[in-house]
Amino acid sequence: MTTVKEILGEMTAPTAEDGALIEKAYAFSEKAHAAHTRYSGEPYFIHPAAVAKILAEYGMDATTIVAGLLHDAVEDACVSREEVEKGFGKEVLFIVDGVTKLGAHKYRGAERHAESLRRLLVATASDIRVLIVKLADRYHNMQTLGYVPEHKRRRIALETLEIYAPIADRLGMGRMKRELEDLAFPFVDPDAARHTAEMRKTKTRETEAGLEKVQKELQRELVKRGLAAFRTEIRTKGLWSLHQKLSRKHDDINLIHDIAALRIIVPEIEDCYSALGIVHALYRPLPGEFKDYIAFPKPNGYQSLHTTVVTPEAGIVEIQIRSEEMHRRAQFGIASHMSYKQLGKNVEKLQKEIQRSKFSSLSFSWVRSLIPSLMRVSKKERGEWGTAKVPPWLAELAEAHAEVAGSDDFVEGLKEDFFSHRVFVFTPKGDVIDLPAASTPIDFAYAIHSDLGDHLQGAKVNGKLVSFDTVLGNGDIVEVLRRDAAHPSAKWLDSVRTSLARRHIRAALGIAEPAKPSRHHRHKSKGKRF
Ligand code: MN
Repeated sequence: MTTVKEILGEMTAPTAEDGALIEKAYAFSEKAHAAHTRYSGEPYFIHPAAVAKILAEYGMDATTIVAGLLHDAVEDACVSREEVEKGFGKEVLFIVDGVTKLGAHKYRGAERHAESLRRLLVATASDIRVLIVKLADRYHNMQTLGYVPEHKRRRIALETLEIYAPIADRLGMGRMKRELEDLAFPFVDPDAARHTAEMRKTKTRETEAGLEKVQKELQRELVKRGLAAFRTEIRTKGLWSLHQKLSRKHDDINLIHDIAALRIIVPEIEDCYSALGIVHALYRPLPGEFKDYIAFPKPNGYQSLHTTVVTPEAGIVEIQIRSEEMHRRAQFGIASHMSYKQLGKNVEKLQKEIQRSKFSSLSFSWVRSLIPSLMRVSKKERGEWGTAKVPPWLAELAEAHAEVAGSDDFVEGLKEDFFSHRVFVFTPKGDVIDLPAASTPIDFAYAIHSDLGDHLQGAKVNGKLVSFDTVLGNGDIVEVLRRDAAHPSAKWLDSVRTSLARRHIRAALGIAEPAKPSRHHRHKSKGKRF
């Protein structure tokens, strides 16, 4: 059982208040879950305690760790929301509520909906800490998936692979992504997982000795050229990611050069380029294989230099060069910015980093892309514990970014982003349908099948009969009723948002498409025609 001491031990510099709060939540949760056991037969409380420790490892603050301890208490242990709020405050309750809400969305394996569901989860989380608690929850559940009844395992593993690992990736949490993938892979496709593991083992054994020689030689050379403060490590490619790459390369393992890569970690950005020079002077690089992810970060913020070189001792080797800061961010991603005690320092540091970067408009696009879903919260909904549900660090980061980008419309522009224009609703079976905001049951029916739209008789939202002009909201469960005798009416055109529905209704009514299908135009002509 994870102890309070272990949780606090993972935190950077917990204050006495942090300690007291976490201890209180620990005792509270242990008592609340006392009557329950896990599938493994162990006390249920091992789960929230483990989740809390994972959150501490990821550098999360005491509030988030407390929310981790309590994340299942309301739903599974019948603790009231009032009790949580009274004992631990609004902010903790907000995160616990968010995690519970996310749990209601389940992936049922329809691949076309995976992207929609990922977006839905990100959009409804409304606070990045909710997503991080959910990821930590999933991570621990995956570690104990073997105890779960067999018929549930595959669904959970598939959901992890299709939904949660990509979200971790989107948040730049490389370590979490890899762990989730490699825990899920054997449950999703046991044969492929075994085959990939064997291939990796054989290949690693072949190259191990050579790679260590290269590592030593590189270390000597770096020191000789005056680059003293560095460390190196050999990283092995994750199983799932190797499997995917193998599928792309027709299962030919000899075409994959990064099963084991050599990593050089240096203090500053400038040192990365010095190290690169030293590497290329020592070994001949393969043309076309060099990637500067420092100047051009990946969309999730990942930064490093990647080069592939030919070595006498180990053949073709991929070498990754990054600063300590980049390394930390590659592992913990967005979570690495969230330790509230370092917040002030971090924001300053990030601002400097952004200002220093020649390609500022490219850096932190991942943070920027996460903000719209957070910004959508109306003034009325804003919490009492801050100016908005947008975490302050994120808002500051956005501001820092806006200043550098020199755009006053930055925040305004964010609202124009994808999320604010979409609504995600469910079929009764749990499939996600992704529609434009302000869509109605008519749009929903046509999105599923034109026949369903053309014979739409009635609609239910969350179990209640509604009129056809009802505007659908995120997370609504929509059921439509079909009858042969039912047909579209001209009035429907007033209530639809999708051009798909509009087209079908017009076709059914025998009305020609207007010459200019702009919304404005349609509205004008509508009055005359009908
Ligand atoms: Mn849980």
